[in-house]
Parts: sequence; structure tokens; C-alpha cells
Amino acid sequence: MITAAIPGGNIQLFGISGNRIELDVELRDTTTDWFYWSFKAEFPRPGRYEFYFVKPNRIGPRGPAYSLDGGRSWRWLGENTDGRSFVFDYDGSAPEVLFCMGMAYLERDFDAFRREFSGNALLQVETLCRSRQGRAVEIATIREGAPEFTLLLTSRHHAGEMMATYVLEGMLRYALIHEEFRRSIGITAVPFVDKDGVENGDQGKNRAPHDHARDYEGESIYPEVAAIRELFLQLRPAAVMDLHCPWLRGGCNEWIYVVGSEKPERELQMTRFGRILETETPPCCPYHERDNVRFGTLWNTAENYTGGWTIRHFAENYPFVKGAFSMEIPFANAREVTLDRAAALELGAAFCRAMARYLKEEAK
Ligand SMILES: [Zn+2]
Repeated sequence: MITAAIPGGNIQLFGISGNRIELDVELRDTTTDWFYWSFKAEFPRPGRYEFYFVKPNRIGPRGPAYSLDGGRSWRWLGENTDGRSFVFDYDGSAPEVLFCMGMAYLERDFDAFRREFSGNALLQVETLCRSRQGRAVEIATIREGAPEFTLLLTSRHHAGEMMATYVLEGMLRYALIHEEFRRSIGITAVPFVDKDGVENGDQGKNRAPHDHARDYEGESIYPEVAAIRELFLQLRPAAVMDLHCPWLRGGCNEWIYVVGSEKPERELQMTRFGRILETETPPCCPYHERDNVRFGTLWNTAENYTGGWTIRHFAENYPFVKGAFSMEIPFANAREVTLDRAAALELGAAFCRAMARYLKEEAK
């Protein structure tokens, strides 16, 4: 049995013959082809099962991620070269198996993090606003005393980009256990900007008429973005970090990088931040400043932003913002290593260390 009736679920079943299952993503209001999918499988008996996607570009370089414990932990199935099929050997030990194109991160995962720190008054989680479907959109604050700087942190402007939220959690964890960091920087974070899309299992990318990430110009159509704009004006953050994942596989999609601005002085800030970050990332999540995608290169052109401003474009208009960085974190491979939950949390810690050094330098 194959079902998308799980949090974050998304799949279309085309047919099952013997142990071969044909399926594809369910494109919701996404205007372009995209690759997010997630489903639950129950197998009738142990054996080898073949999953085949009827369209290409559905599976990343490390294969699908799978979970035997209802989504609490995930593993990569293993190297995948064709991008559209995988084989799973079911040994009968788990009653059901979750499969996803990445290591799913949903509300239940953020709740688990909150529970872990429930005795710690430094972590405050409130409701930023209600989504269109009435869900509570979380806002997490870690602030002690009167820190010199405020960092506004966001992920899931694109619902399917789950790896970004592990990094966001890694940043919150770092702030919770490092007093010196907290004395310098207070963090305000929105882990799921497109909360409905995350829980419903939408791709979230290139929604009609535009997606959450392009909703920062003119009147915002999404309540979450309108609330974040208001929050931004109250906070007047020294830095904004917007966490994303790139496309599925190959080239820059297997690098950690920052997206360059069309404003030269802003792109210089990215370069200065990148030089610091390069010295802070451990071997499990390598980053190189030279990997940054400067404006006018690869996909980063004016054409890409005709749908509207991102939070970075919006924030760059305010001189009190000393750095507005759009970070791209691959779903699976980062250069020579493969990311997982532990590596993504480490990357979050590195982002914090780099940001603390960067803001201190910029304030000189
Ligand atoms: Zn994105």
C-alpha cells in the first residue's frame, strides 16, 4: 500500500504490477516541473521492490531518504545515478516505511526540538500569525539581556526545502548553548514560512501567481510574508539569513553557497561573510567562498526575480542591515561529502560562529 496521507505527503500512484511500483510527484499549484515527493509504504511481504518514477529528475544523488520509525530518523538509501528509480529490499522488520526525496523536516521535528529544550526559558516559541488554512506559524526567539545585534532567520519560503530547516535548528541549538554568542546576537527565527505547504506536502516552488519567496514586493499576498515584513520593521535586524535548498542534483546543486546581490556593495558583504564562513565550516559540511553564485552567473540573473522581491531584496533596502544572505544548502551532497541531520546541525553552528565574527567586523 502506497499513501500520501501523511504529514508532508505527496505522491501519485500510477500502477503496481508484482513488486514494481510506478509513481510520480503530485504537482500542486506549481507552474513548473518540480521534484518534491514523500509517501508511506506498507509491504505485503519481505522482498525486493522496485520504484519507478514516470518522469525524470525525481531522485537526488544519494537516492531517496527512508525512515523506519515514522519519520523520527532518516537515512539515505544510497547512490542514485538515473534520478528516477530505486530498489528497496524490505526485510519485514518495520510495519511501514516512509520514503521522501530528502530527509523530511516537519512541524513534528520542530516540536521534538522544542520538547528537548522545554526546561530552557531562553527558547521562546510563539505564533507569528495564522496561515491561510489556520495553522499556527511558529516564531522562535532566543534573546538574553540586550545583545548588540539581531539576526532574523527564515526557512521554507519554499515548502519542500527541508534541509534548510535542519540548519536553522542547528543555529538555534548553538545559540542556546553558547552564552557568549547570545550576548552578541539575539535570534528571531521563522522555521516554516510556508507552513501550509510544508504540512500539506506541496513543492511550494514557483507557485502561481508567485511563491512565498517572491512575495516581498508591493502588497504581500501571503499572511506569513506580511507578518514577517512587519516583524522586520520592528526588529530592525543587523542581519537576515534566508535558508534554501537548490535544485535536485549536479553542479552548484551539490555545493553550499550564498546567492549574490545585484547591488555591488551588498555582494561585497557576501564575499566578506563567505571568507569568514569558509574558515568556520568543519569537514562534514564544507563550504568555499569561491562557490558563491554571483549575480549574473548560473541561474542568478534578473530574469529569475521577475516574479517579485525575495526577503533579501527587501532587507537590502535598509541601511541598518549589514548583511542579507540567501543561503543554499544542498539536499544531499555538499562537494565531497553527503549531508545528513548531524552535518546540517553542524553547518548551523558554523553559520552562527561566522555571523558573530562578521557582524563584529562590520561594526568596526
Ligand atoms: Zn528556495
